[in-house]
Amino acid sequence: MTEENFDAIVIGAGMAGNAAAYTMASRGLKVLQLERGEYPGSKNVQGAILYSNMLEKIIPDFRDDAPLERHLVEQRFWMMDNTSHMGMQYRSDDFNESRHNRYTIIRAQFDKWFSRKVRDAGAVVLCETTATELARDTDGRVIGVRTDRTGDLILADVVVLAEGVSGLLGTRAGLRETPKPEHLALAVKEMHFLPEEVIDQRFGLSANEGCVIEAAGTISRDMAGLAFLYTNKESISIGIGCLVSDFASTRQPPYELLEGFKNHPSIRPLIAGSEVKEYAAHLIPEGGYNAIPQLFGNGWVVVGDAAQLNNAVHREGSNLAMTSGRLAGEAIHQVKKRQGQMTKENLALYKSMLDKSFVIKDLRKYKDMPALLHTNSRNFFMTYPQLLSQAAQNFIRVDSTPKIDKERAATATFIKARSRWGLVSDAVRFAFAWR
Ligand SMILES: Cc1cc2nc3c(=O)[nH]c(=O)nc-3n(C[C@H](O)[C@H](O)[C@H](O)COP(=O)(O)OP(=O)(O)OC[C@H]3O[C@@H](n4cnc5c(N)ncnc54)[C@H](O)[C@@H]3O)c2cc1C
Repeated sequence: MTEENFDAIVIGAGMAGNAAAYTMASRGLKVLQLERGEYPGSKNVQGAILYSNMLEKIIPDFRDDAPLERHLVEQRFWMMDNTSHMGMQYRSDDFNESRHNRYTIIRAQFDKWFSRKVRDAGAVVLCETTATELARDTDGRVIGVRTDRTGDLILADVVVLAEGVSGLLGTRAGLRETPKPEHLALAVKEMHFLPEEVIDQRFGLSANEGCVIEAAGTISRDMAGLAFLYTNKESISIGIGCLVSDFASTRQPPYELLEGFKNHPSIRPLIAGSEVKEYAAHLIPEGGYNAIPQLFGNGWVVVGDAAQLNNAVHREGSNLAMTSGRLAGEAIHQVKKRQGQMTKENLALYKSMLDKSFVIKDLRKYKDMPALLHTNSRNFFMTYPQLLSQAAQNFIRVDSTPKIDKERAATATFIKARSRWGLVSDAVRFAFAWR
């Protein structure tokens, strides 16, 4: 048994773990962080959009040296059928402000930078070290971890579980259930390299400006899913994700979906001539509010994806991870400052801080959305995109058909596909889930 006793051990050096470790180490706590990857970020996959506000609350001057790709000035949302897309687009020069609101990043580089900050703040960071077991005392209180290095017990007052979506350590210890397939999305992603000026030209960008396209529709072939395309400086991240339960029942290979998206006539010209250098796949927790497990106990807290803190409706995860990590770190520091024990009662402070933040408020707002989309994926991801696209094309195409006949035909197609009652019921259920 090692002699050393840390104030906190953080499992994982992703967004949540780095936020927690930095917050505690910079307040003077003795922190050990364990990361199973060769280096922080080597195992991590993200689109990736970084939300500045949440990082500023941890490292206010991060823009000085963080590896940032482009700041985002334009967002497009496309509803796609097999040959068309219709969409919403928002672009504003206001996003060219000095403190940019969102950036694209490459996680392997970003996580290394974040981890350097954690070390500089005084934490001990051990890579290529997997925490294999949570150790408990006879009362069931978590007192430390064992790793695959020596098997020795490393003691700590509290363990912060920031181990990401699969959360094996916590589930093996019985702290939470294994996430259900309908609460997980599997996303596949590629990096396509192109010269910076080609990306600028294709997306109408200049001076490090960036653009995001998010898309839904027939591209996910009957499944609940979303595709994305993000511009980096000299590359484009392109990917698609669908619920694991849908992949299991439809038996669609994920890479075929990605091929379909890349070859869609609206996407193909944007990545033409690019060189593909990376392919990755990763899970995303999408169960929302109803899937959040117990967040704290005697000697432990759980943060980030491991706690299912992900807002699938707004495609936000890293900001919820950073915020939950920071709040867990602040709560632990406060308990320590008043010389309290890391008991369940004292660590409830973390949950009450999280409840007051946007994290739980946003997830609670959309609590019924995951189930609605899961059980109605055919309507929302296949039928409606096709109907809307058809209606838009009929409206735009000029021929000798009187406009009133076109409108009647469009209405009749919607009713034929969903019935009047079906249309009203879909609209009401969607509005309720969104409210
Ligand atoms: C394709 C894709 C696109 C995404 N795009 C976006 C986006 O654009 N914006 C956004 O905000 N979010 C996005 N997300 C979600 C975002 O990536 C996650 O919400 C975020 O990474 C969660 O951070 P985390 O620290 O909880 O987990 P992770 O980043 O997964 O980090 C967990 C870490 O723990 C380590 N670990 C696990 N087990 C152990 C162990 N036993 N011992 C030691 N180390 C261990 C892992 O190696 C890993 O480094 C995306 C996700 C995917 C998959």
